[in-house]
Amino acid sequence: MIAKSMKAVKKTSAGPGLTWATETPTPAIGPRDVLVAVTHAGVCGTDRHIYEWDAWSASRVPLGTTVGHEFVGRVVAVGAAVERTQVGARISGEGHIGCGVCEPCRTGNGHICERVDIIGIDRDGCFAEYVAIPEENVWPVHPDIPDHVAAVFDPLGNAMHTVMAAGVSGRSVLVTGVGIIGLMAVTIARAAGAGTILVTDANPARLELAKRLGADHAWNAADERWPVEARRVTHDQGPQVLLEMSGHPRAIRQGFSALRNGGTAALLGLPSKPVELDLPNDIIFKGATVLGINGRRMYETWYQVESFVLSGRLQLEPIITHQIAFADFDRAFKMMQSGEAIKVVLRIT
Ligand SMILES: [Zn+2]
Ligand SMILES: [Zn+2]
Repeated sequence: MIAKSMKAVKKTSAGPGLTWATETPTPAIGPRDVLVAVTHAGVCGTDRHIYEWDAWSASRVPLGTTVGHEFVGRVVAVGAAVERTQVGARISGEGHIGCGVCEPCRTGNGHICERVDIIGIDRDGCFAEYVAIPEENVWPVHPDIPDHVAAVFDPLGNAMHTVMAAGVSGRSVLVTGVGIIGLMAVTIARAAGAGTILVTDANPARLELAKRLGADHAWNAADERWPVEARRVTHDQGPQVLLEMSGHPRAIRQGFSALRNGGTAALLGLPSKPVELDLPNDIIFKGATVLGINGRRMYETWYQVESFVLSGRLQLEPIITHQIAFADFDRAFKMMQSGEAIKVVLRIT
């Protein structure tokens, strides 16, 4: 029996905070959609932006939207045209819903669709007892993967996409910013056969954790001398790969200055304003390759994440620091803001 109304966490007013709604209508499904009873949902930095209602969220998220985009659950209903997905299946899902007809969508690059709709941002998401997604976006979860890990396949995918796009195997890697995605990138890069891994961050506890996950050197981002040290420990040539996860202008400039000639920079962190770079010295004369990273490849990245998780070589338990009850969602955001928590998974049902 699917209830007509449900509990959900919504953005209802143009200011900080989110609302606990107890009588939200259960989503209706179209012929090609599935309805999922959500069991676990990951709280993301993007959700925190919406919680804090920064300029980006104010310009993008319609009031009344149910937030959340990282989840695992069970299919409870399917539309008339759904063919492969069965009621009862344990699934996660890609939250980026592409238009299917733009040039990126038609050339296997749906992750950069020009008219993408993202659950929990542009339409109702998964901080709710039920979420509806197109069958095409369903990711069946392998039985050996626990719920709290399946719930964070989406951000693991961001980290995986960054690491794979840059190519880290046998190369020295610098990760600037070890928040959730940066820490995931460290454990993935280690498992993917990276050489020396260097990290920077402003938070000493995160630096320590990055070392536990396989980083060889960790520096406080406030220490201006770290780019010199980064060169010293990489044969005086600098790291071959930069994974920029901070979005911080100074870290971006320092990361590029440390990067080796011929190196690759993959940029995922989002600066809040335009950033000035020394293009001749940091990119052009270096012959650097610069990659913008948005989302995850659909669905190459999902297969890679599954394969790495099943290999047992990722250390995710130290990153997923808390699992808390759905109704305590506000505490999840406060713990993220204070730095007490890294990744929080909400237990929905
Ligand atoms: Zn996310
Ligand atoms: Zn498209």
